Amino acid sequence: MPQTDATAPLTVTPHAISVLLPTAVVGPFDYLVPEELHVVPGDYVHVPLGKRAMIGVVWGPAQGDVDPAKLRAIDARVDTPPMPDQVRRFIDWVSAYTLSPPGAVLRMAMRSPDALEPPKPVIVYSKSEPDAELRMTPARQRVLTFLENGPALSAPDLARETGVSSGVIKGLVAAGALEKREVPPPPPFDAPDLARPGPSLSQAQAVAAAQLRDKIAANAFSVTLLDGVTGSGKTEVYFEAVAAALSAERQVLVLLPEIALTPQWLSRFETRFGVAPAVWHSDLSQVQRRVNWRAVATGNARIVVGARSALFLPFAELGLIIIDEEHEPAFKQEDGVPYHGRDMAIVRAQIAGAPVVLASATPSLETRVNVSREKFSAIVLPERFGGAVMPAIKTVDMRVADLSANRFISDELVGELKTTLAAGEQAMLFLNRRGYAPLTLCRTCGHRIECPSCAAWLTEHRFRKRLQCHHCGYEVPSPSVCPSCENVDTLVACGPGVERIAEEITHLLPDARVGIMTSDTMRGPDSAQAFIRSVENGDLDILIGTQMVAKGHHFPNLTLVGIVDADLGLAGGDLRAAERTYQVLQQVSGRAGRAERPGRVLIQTFQPEHPVMSTLVSGDRDGFIALETEARQIGGWPPFGRLAAIIVSSRDSRVADDLSRALARCAPSTPDIRVLGPAPAPLSLLRGQHRRRLLLKASRDVSIQPVLRNWLDQIKVPANARVRVDVDPYSFL
Ligand code: ADP
Ligand code: ZN
Repeated sequence: MPQTDATAPLTVTPHAISVLLPTAVVGPFDYLVPEELHVVPGDYVHVPLGKRAMIGVVWGPAQGDVDPAKLRAIDARVDTPPMPDQVRRFIDWVSAYTLSPPGAVLRMAMRSPDALEPPKPVIVYSKSEPDAELRMTPARQRVLTFLENGPALSAPDLARETGVSSGVIKGLVAAGALEKREVPPPPPFDAPDLARPGPSLSQAQAVAAAQLRDKIAANAFSVTLLDGVTGSGKTEVYFEAVAAALSAERQVLVLLPEIALTPQWLSRFETRFGVAPAVWHSDLSQVQRRVNWRAVATGNARIVVGARSALFLPFAELGLIIIDEEHEPAFKQEDGVPYHGRDMAIVRAQIAGAPVVLASATPSLETRVNVSREKFSAIVLPERFGGAVMPAIKTVDMRVADLSANRFISDELVGELKTTLAAGEQAMLFLNRRGYAPLTLCRTCGHRIECPSCAAWLTEHRFRKRLQCHHCGYEVPSPSVCPSCENVDTLVACGPGVERIAEEITHLLPDARVGIMTSDTMRGPDSAQAFIRSVENGDLDILIGTQMVAKGHHFPNLTLVGIVDADLGLAGGDLRAAERTYQVLQQVSGRAGRAERPGRVLIQTFQPEHPVMSTLVSGDRDGFIALETEARQIGGWPPFGRLAAIIVSSRDSRVADDLSRALARCAPSTPDIRVLGPAPAPLSLLRGQHRRRLLLKASRDVSIQPVLRNWLDQIKVPANARVRVDVDPYSFL
């Protein structure tokens, strides 16, 4: 602490700066800079916080809100490249937009604090003068001859290169004939091979690739939609943009929905560029996380493919962002800092002055509106690559099919399955529901088995003989006695999940080889890869799955897709339910007939006249989107208006009610702002929390962040309640 004795001579004002810490407490905080230390904005620094020591980032000049005499000093500077200015601006932007504390956003950008330390050096050996006369053996001679001209190597590498045992190396070291030295480990990523020729592109692909290359050459922010039907070769086209950006010595980020980060994608990348990209997703080990984060920071990693969280990596030379499957709701983060990966990627690119490419076969309505407003440009690939035709799609009217209570597959679909298998081809059945049955009901007393902490039924998982809540993970062994009336064997499964469909298929087609693909059966990348192999190798005839099967896979022999329950996604009042259902079903349909053999799609529905179903059949996507767009425009919904959700939660339902009513009472109200609610959230009880929701709806020219901030500032949130803000909400659960 500096002296504050009034009689002491005035010294130079101590130098202070602000440091942002990766915690949700509001910040940044001011710290003193010791005289011997030189720091610049972006530097990582060790600072004290209370009794703890933390690593934070120098954010800017001191804010001066605390008496300098009371400030504590930075302990040390971390010897690593500072956080790029662009990344800091991005963090501030995301924080302001989502109304999240900047430290909470910084935490996402510092997911691997270990990576700030330089990696451990490796020990390598070179030749030196032995202490005394060296007893020579042929093995020793080989090592010494190798080192005459060769590079210094680690002991294991040296042993391998010269074909000697590790004992020989040890002996030479002991005799003083080898000298050890510490060197930094080799960089983890090899440079992509840009000299490799890409595939020869079709005329349409070549035109699209040239347009994208122009965007890279312009070296400026732009957004381009690559709108191509499934199988049109969008990946090959955007690889050309990747190649162009890499040649221009820029870093590239490809964002995929986590679920689409498949081994198939990675092997296609390797085929094209001869090396593996750096990957970034939630399943990485600590070590991989550290290595990859640092490789991005030092510029060794030129290309990263990752889930949305990769946006917060410390790119210093970002020159292109690709967002594949841009319409995917999986890009929206719901926990912690709620943000939309696609929207924030566009912000990140704008800060970098770099182009963005959005790829999709079913672009989001938001993106299409931005194209029509000419904020984005669009490139269309209307046909499948290599002459493959789009599948023939038809509906099966389930009102007419009139199945008995325990059957879910219509005779028509069974017939098509038989034809497909007889032709030696493969089929896929899609049902977006894990487990065996979504509801277990007592035949005698009517009791429905519910989760104790959520307003939701438990799903039966028959393979594992357990009931599970898909919202909080709560599990119990499947009971044989009704928990309410205690009768034995009166519980019945209601409705289908994928396991039940597999059971029905096995019953109807006993010879078919059936595989289930869900997050339950494919727990990691290895099991996913094994599963995909078995489909590719033809070890499976029928593939049954949830939305996991909808993504990106390319199975040339798969010619039939059956949608078990097309109506499932339409229930509930979700703003995007119809759009989303259309996208999912279109994606799933796109798995059929991707190679020489044409595909067929059967859609089982109780409402074949619904616009989603008729659009899938007619292929009139633009007509459907126009209809949806008009509905949103009339209602003033996004992207024609702005929306934010306020979610109040508490273990005590009365507290939740009182607080949400208090919020409603002081809600902003102007001609262009309306607040709807409070209403119980559709899942009114989640993980033991009672939830109420208010929706703020404003016209597009309103900047809603200050409105929200003023509103929330008027309320004191009790300790046993929480208020969460979700700007641009997607999930309405
Ligand atoms: P999309 O992403 O548009 O659904 P893909 O990029 O997955 O389409 O391409 C579909 C299939 O066609 C893939 O197997 C891909 O390797 C192949 N393909 C696309 N373009 C070419 C090309 N120019 N040369 C060779 N194969 C191609
Ligand atoms: Zn639950």
